Amino acid sequence: MSPATRCRWGGSGRWSTSARPPGSDIPPGVRPDYEVVVAGAGPAGCGVALRLAQIDPRLAERTLVLDRATFPRAKPCGGGLTGHAEDAMRALDIPLEVDAWPAPGAVVRFGEFERRVVLARPVRVVRREEFDHSLVRLARRRGVDVVEGEGVVAFERVADGVRVRTRRRTLTCRVLVGADGAASVVRKTLHAGRRQRPHRLFKLELPAPPGRPPAADMVYDFTPMVHGLRGYLWVFPVPGNRLNVGLMHYPSRVNRGGGDLVSLLRDGLAEHGLALPDRGVRGWPAWGYHPRAPVSAPGVVTVGDAAGIDALTGEGIAVALEHAIVAGDAIADALRTGDRSFADYRRRLRRAVVGRELALDRWLAWLLYRGRGAWRRWLPLVLFDPEVIELYAARVSGTAVLADHKLRLYRALARHVVKLPGRARALRAAAPPAALLPAA
Ligand SMILES: Cc1cc2nc3c(=O)[nH]c(=O)nc-3n(C[C@H](O)[C@H](O)[C@H](O)COP(=O)(O)OP(=O)(O)OC[C@H]3O[C@@H](n4cnc5c(N)ncnc54)[C@H](O)[C@@H]3O)c2cc1C
Repeated sequence: MSPATRCRWGGSGRWSTSARPPGSDIPPGVRPDYEVVVAGAGPAGCGVALRLAQIDPRLAERTLVLDRATFPRAKPCGGGLTGHAEDAMRALDIPLEVDAWPAPGAVVRFGEFERRVVLARPVRVVRREEFDHSLVRLARRRGVDVVEGEGVVAFERVADGVRVRTRRRTLTCRVLVGADGAASVVRKTLHAGRRQRPHRLFKLELPAPPGRPPAADMVYDFTPMVHGLRGYLWVFPVPGNRLNVGLMHYPSRVNRGGGDLVSLLRDGLAEHGLALPDRGVRGWPAWGYHPRAPVSAPGVVTVGDAAGIDALTGEGIAVALEHAIVAGDAIADALRTGDRSFADYRRRLRRAVVGRELALDRWLAWLLYRGRGAWRRWLPLVLFDPEVIELYAARVSGTAVLADHKLRLYRALARHVVKLPGRARALRAAAPPAALLPAA
């Protein structure tokens, strides 16, 4: 970078070079306002702050977390803390301090077909409003300054750091962390000029129908794929005899508008004896992880939804916390060595367990959801191959890393090619009566 110009980034998501405004650098020998500013206090942002506090409590005191919302804030989410999330919580020393429903099993469903798998470790289902608020309180207890109601609106690189503008003030720091979720200002800037379509997720919490025994298991229902959903509908129990319901749609060639997706959710829930009220469903976009997408720039890293979620499942709590560990370590290294280019950050994310799992799921999502008809070939593998379901259940409960079992997956794929005619017949037999499924 020439001394007279700098790369300027802003909330507009455009790169530009500009003449250097006077006095905007961090002068040599002068401390910036903070070592680290984190935009966003969700699981990813709090996770990074907690990791830095673990590495060096003095660093926690030099870290500022800003969130534009005030906690407890609404967050549409299924709230399932899968095994990888629990492992990351242990690594970050995060105790679960809110009510949770421990789901002992998962039910995979398509039309008339249902298979239940027992989870080696129950998945605890939380309310995100409560969970995220507890993380903010924990970060404060560990010495981190968390400021609510103050969002990052723009940032730019200056000599020896980053200048961050919020609605109230301008701050300097050595490193900016983009943990600002799916609508991330930081992500927009790093992705300027790139086109990507988001996943779409919808969610609502309902009371369980009166007179019905409380549901215990998490239900993943693929039946709406018949009607164009490229994803699944979920029904998860939450504390207080209530249900968290929703669906995820992958950005496939099958375009579905928000109204269509809500109708699919309504019709799908009716099959479970649940009525979707006219109001209250919240939709949200999410970006699937791409191993070659930009996740950092000099002085800047992204984590969690800002870096990309699991394309197959839409899962992101575990991803956020696992990213936070990788990012916290990378930031501590950068501050120690003075090399804040984060040139190897994308590779660090990709090589960590989280990156390997995300890359595998990205490929599986492409197989299953991408086109109009491919799902008829691949859904039977998920439904009818006991080894695939067992492997996935082990991943969900955290007793296995799926990416370590690629050989078993490839063997299952080979087996599937041989068994496809019979499995395709089974899929047609299970499909809802109104759906005529052509042969795979
Ligand atoms: C409907 C739905 C269902 C889901 N179900 C599941 C599930 O069952 N299990 C699972 O693991 N994952 C699920 N996910 C994904 C999961 O919710 C996210 O991946 C997870 O919340 C990511 O955490 P995060 O900290 O990156 O982002 P967020 O939790 O979105 O936090 C980002 C924070 O940044 C703040 N912010 C935004 N902009 C700014 C700004 N400019 N400056 C400062 N702060 C800002 C926001 O207020 C927010 O608090 C679901 C997602 C959706 C939409």
